[in-house]
Amino acid sequence: MSPSPSSASKDALPPLPEPLRVAVADSHTHLDMQAGTVEEGLAKAASVGVSTVVQVGCDVKGSRWAAETAAAYENVHAAVALHPNEAPRIVLGDPGGGGPRQGARAGGGESALDEALAEIEALAALDHVKAVGETGLDYFRTGPEGMAAQERSFRAHIEIAKRRNKALVIHDRDAHADVLRVLREEGAPERTVFHCYSGDADMARECAAAGYYMSFAGTVTFKNAAPLREALAVAPLELVLVETDAPYLTPAPYRGRPNAPYLIPLTVRAMAAVRGIDEDAMATALAANTARAFAY
Ligand SMILES: [Zn+2]
Ligand SMILES: [Zn+2]
Repeated sequence: MSPSPSSASKDALPPLPEPLRVAVADSHTHLDMQAGTVEEGLAKAASVGVSTVVQVGCDVKGSRWAAETAAAYENVHAAVALHPNEAPRIVLGDPGGGGPRQGARAGGGESALDEALAEIEALAALDHVKAVGETGLDYFRTGPEGMAAQERSFRAHIEIAKRRNKALVIHDRDAHADVLRVLREEGAPERTVFHCYSGDADMARECAAAGYYMSFAGTVTFKNAAPLREALAVAPLELVLVETDAPYLTPAPYRGRPNAPYLIPLTVRAMAAVRGIDEDAMATALAANTARAFAY
């Protein structure tokens, strides 16, 4: 098929938004999955008031990269973990299309998971690593055969976060009740962040009662996301964060195009509108909350 103008624009990066007057942090991004260099991505983000990013690793290799990148750049902080969809791959011995990975060998089994977890714990001890995650449960991508490994990995990450006194970053996809249950059973770390918060207002009240941070992504701008906006409306302002989860979840009106930290202002403005507060007040709260949640 020859590229049509519409498919070309679909892959194009959205234009730079109007800069924020108060700088904020992108609390969850994957720079290693975005086009261009880290320098370019950070400079572009800084030019619109996104001065800080939390770089999230999803496997041992990605977590090492996150830690190295955070060591190299003042305004990058790292989160390290085995993603909830990665842990079952390690145990079941399926490298998941990414070729052979560190810590994931064919027919890996429980000992391969333990080895990978030990590497995550070593990285979690580093200074510029501010969080353990993304970890949690994903019932959308992982079927019944992987659930035991996924939950074991989640519990191990909670322990690591507590031992190393780091924030815990939760990935919760179609698994709200079980994520909340495991956190209750294990005892959540002092600072726990639900990345790409996807619950409704009732769950937001439950998270608020437990003191969990709720990080809102571009999904909060989507037309069909009324329950998410209701959740944002009832969440205590001091527990609200913003993120891109880039390259995914590009905010409206650019849904479907590549996402990057420089698009955070679009989500911040949508969030301010939901809360009925001024954009600067929203940004001020987000900046303080992210620094508190990740202790940087
Ligand atoms: Zn996630
Ligand atoms: Zn992510």
